[in-house]
Amino acid sequence: MPRGAVLQRDGQTYAIVPWIRGGIVTPEILERLAAVARKYKIPVMKLTFAGRIALVGLKEEEVEAVWDELGLEPAPAVGPYLRSVRACPGTAACRLAQQDSLGLGMKLEEQFGGRDLPGKMKVGISGCPMNCSEAWVRDFGAFGKKDGFTVVVGGSAGAVPRIGEVLVEKVTADEVIRLFERILEIYRQEGRKGERFSAFAARVGLDHLKKTLGLA
Ligand code: SF4
Repeated sequence: MPRGAVLQRDGQTYAIVPWIRGGIVTPEILERLAAVARKYKIPVMKLTFAGRIALVGLKEEEVEAVWDELGLEPAPAVGPYLRSVRACPGTAACRLAQQDSLGLGMKLEEQFGGRDLPGKMKVGISGCPMNCSEAWVRDFGAFGKKDGFTVVVGGSAGAVPRIGEVLVEKVTADEVIRLFERILEIYRQEGRKGERFSAFAARVGLDHLKKTLGLA
């Protein structure tokens, strides 16, 4: 399998998804994406729900050259990893924001993105209770209020939908990061192979997570 590539339905071509942290692009990144798309006549460029740009329809022999020309790493798009951190603009650009969701989301993605886990995990960080990053239906989510972040765990919008439960309220961004690190440790120790975090959280229960984290 070519590096960072996913075989498509036709059984012949591949898709790649460059890692664009926080969904923040620069003119240079966009220019490189446009240049490879033109050069290799990439038929489909798709904005993903994780704030990335998928390049679809590459030939096997083109994949490595495209990575070289992009100068970007593959995103953890499939497999048992911390897949994506979706973060809304927060205080960086939204008048309703009460916390810096983009800053927190980018830190989480920088520190923990692509980590090996028992199953897949998705994260959503929102700057206010409007929850544009859908924290309630992410495996791990946080949204800002005036007095700090509310952290919710165990949500999923996937095949088995589930609304997350409140783990803790009124915490700082640094506390969210520490909690997240501890939660990944617990998940790695107690999660079953292939078990998505939301399923793990439902199985062990909120009380168990709170006790293990010293929150109860
Ligand atoms: S969640 Fe709140 S802060 Fe974030 S984009 Fe939506 S309205 Fe703005």
